[in-house]
Amino acid sequence: MSWWSVDATHDPERASWVESAQGHGDFPVQNLPFGIFSIEGGHPRAGVAIGDKILDLFACASAELLLADVAPLCAGETLNALMALPGEARRALRHRLSDLLSDPAHRARVEPMLLDAADCVMHLPARIGDYSDFYVGIHHANNIGRQFRPDNPLLPNYKYVPIGYHGRASSVRPSGEPLVRPWGQRKPPEADAPVFGPSARLDYELELGVWVGPGNDLGTPIPIGAAAEHIAGFCLLNDWSARDFQAWEYQPLGPFLAKNFQSTVSPWVVTPEALAPFRIAQPARPQGDPAPLPYLHDGDDQAHGALGLVLEVDLTSAAMRAAGHAPLRLSRGPASNMYWTVQQIVTHHASNGCNLQPGDLLGTGTISAPEREGYGSLMELSSGGRDPIALPGGEVRTFLEDGDEVTLRARGEAAGAVPIGFGACQARVLAARWAESG
Ligand code: MN
Repeated sequence: MSWWSVDATHDPERASWVESAQGHGDFPVQNLPFGIFSIEGGHPRAGVAIGDKILDLFACASAELLLADVAPLCAGETLNALMALPGEARRALRHRLSDLLSDPAHRARVEPMLLDAADCVMHLPARIGDYSDFYVGIHHANNIGRQFRPDNPLLPNYKYVPIGYHGRASSVRPSGEPLVRPWGQRKPPEADAPVFGPSARLDYELELGVWVGPGNDLGTPIPIGAAAEHIAGFCLLNDWSARDFQAWEYQPLGPFLAKNFQSTVSPWVVTPEALAPFRIAQPARPQGDPAPLPYLHDGDDQAHGALGLVLEVDLTSAAMRAAGHAPLRLSRGPASNMYWTVQQIVTHHASNGCNLQPGDLLGTGTISAPEREGYGSLMELSSGGRDPIALPGGEVRTFLEDGDEVTLRARGEAAGAVPIGFGACQARVLAARWAESG
């Protein structure tokens, strides 16, 4: 079995006895993502999304409906132990869950373990030890590079190194948790000295998140051929960015306070198995580009390592919601606009012996299409603030205003496969807070 193989759990004919799963935009029985949820007054615990329900994994394990070796891993308040499972064991769990939720013979026992998702609160799926963010969206890198360095948008290392930096794990938050506008230093172009205040150029970044699986021991790199086995799942990631702070602080050491005040993830961990039908070849590099160095090159990865997902960003403002306007679609584009595959990101990260651990989070970097309708940030959509975007109701935006709500979505679509989605990655911007002293 390879990591891109399709099996009986993907069969389009397979239906769940959970009625809402049929034709569900995100969570048909072919998806089965893992998450951590709670109901009012209860402890967070592991669950699986199915239609508009959540299957309580701990209840399943307690009722001895799961393999004995997996059951104890479902008891925690995070998915770290489940994420550490080797791919083979995770695939066995998927097969069992798929059977439980599709075979009517299991319905009577399993149905009492379903909760209405609407009654549940979703939490971070893992205790995140470390979070690193990459920069593999080549059109984003070009667009942003051009604004910061007009004659030199892509630095010479870009086509050799999957560029990344270490982010901040403590401020990663699940979808739904609002974001407080950050304060920071910015230097207006015409000013002699920087000022300290709320960001005036608050932006989102449309990214995919990668949840690390088993991981590697310190000093032991992950070969590219084995990288897929170290990925436990995927999510959407909004890497909120204060562009004014970023422009002032980013040299010489890269992003710092412009990025680490909060990052929002979608709470469901979509497994590599669920994404198998949506694997596609990594797009060929343009003529004249260097081939990846051997440690980053693998034939299977090049043939199957990209993701056939469609990514979308929606925006509502407070005024839009008050007036009953539908969300404004800011962008839509394919996730294949990545210069490096997620497997190459994993291998590069561990290539110096750096140890990745179960539950670590990697961001791909902003994924933009070559065309404006697929740009993954306001920095690009508004051309660095020069071209305002019209909102329904007469408002305009160059960057985010207080009350704005940003929603990221991802959907896998492929011929002969039941489409699946990631669920929303959504958060609202709250006004800056600062305890003025004196
Ligand atoms: Mn980013």
